[in-house]
Amino acid sequence: MDSIAIAQKLISCKSITPGDDGIFDYVLELLATAGFKCQILEFGEGKEKVKNLYAQVGVSAPNLCFAGHLDVVPPGDLHAWKHNPFAGTIEEGKLFGRGAVDMKCAVAAWIAASIKVVNEGKLNGSISLLLTGDEEGPATHGTVKVLEHLKEQGVAIDACIVGEPTCEKHFGDTIKIGRRGSITYNLEVIGVQGHVAYPHLAKNPIDIMVAILHELKAIKLDVGNENFQASNLEIISVDVGNSTTNTIPGKASAILNVRYNNEQTEEKLTHIIKSVCDKHTDSYHLTSKESAKAFLSAPNDFAYKLAKVVEEVSGIKPKFSTSGGTSDARFIQKYCQVAEFGLLNDTAHKVDEYTSIENLVKLEKIYYNLIFSSTC
Ligand SMILES: [Zn+2]
Repeated sequence: MDSIAIAQKLISCKSITPGDDGIFDYVLELLATAGFKCQILEFGEGKEKVKNLYAQVGVSAPNLCFAGHLDVVPPGDLHAWKHNPFAGTIEEGKLFGRGAVDMKCAVAAWIAASIKVVNEGKLNGSISLLLTGDEEGPATHGTVKVLEHLKEQGVAIDACIVGEPTCEKHFGDTIKIGRRGSITYNLEVIGVQGHVAYPHLAKNPIDIMVAILHELKAIKLDVGNENFQASNLEIISVDVGNSTTNTIPGKASAILNVRYNNEQTEEKLTHIIKSVCDKHTDSYHLTSKESAKAFLSAPNDFAYKLAKVVEEVSGIKPKFSTSGGTSDARFIQKYCQVAEFGLLNDTAHKVDEYTSIENLVKLEKIYYNLIFSSTC
């Protein structure tokens, strides 16, 4: 079976995170038939329960793993789509559907490529897949749990490719070798509620909040470095909840999100924000939640090998990048060398998401060459 037919079948499953709509059963059957040893791993309780799959063929090292997700974000307004998001329609050389680039076609390309290597009887090492149904959601019961489980079982992964859509303008132009971290801060400034006509009897928390946010936005956190763009702090919400026109509110709250590079840590950033708050008030609460740490996994041997294969097939020399949001590579880098390469990301999460068939075929070829050069 080629990657196009597999991709169409994957797209036809409505696996809107964290639901699976039979997609894991389909993949398991396909891989088991080809000789893969498969285990469905479920983590989390009740509504939070998430399905994952680890499949491996071969028992010797090196074990080359593909990590990805089978869940997708919701299609949004169905009327806005020209093509049914769950039909896998092909039109004028394009394959349409939710998850086409993020990232069912990459999963399909890896499955087709690895089955081909197995059928040719050339496998010397091992090929594996780590697929989760919890990447587009909170990502707490997915890849991170599977990796812990595999470690307990003594399963070693030597290198891992993550199939997220990494290419920006041309297919082949970008391999990701790290990602920035993300921290969300909740800031609450406490004032004294009072009548607008008697401001001397009140203390307006909005004035204080505005001064804090203004100063924070003016700070240059860093300028980035050869592997990372600069860190940035964004104000994503400011709330008072005041429905009156004659009352100075008692408190004001704001939410900030910082995307940070490997020059920063949570401690450093919290210190910066706290010292600004301290200058303006002693009556505030600041809490933080770090959802991803910044990491740099490469350039390493594996990333260079991948870059060579990408250039051979696409004709483009890929650049190493750490741009974009977070991905499951942040969990994998603790266990082995990891790099990310997949399709163009320009239609990810959009209406009428699609990949060109040409790029899908090239991606299968890249994955085949990578598997062949690593495990045969
Ligand atoms: Zn994705």
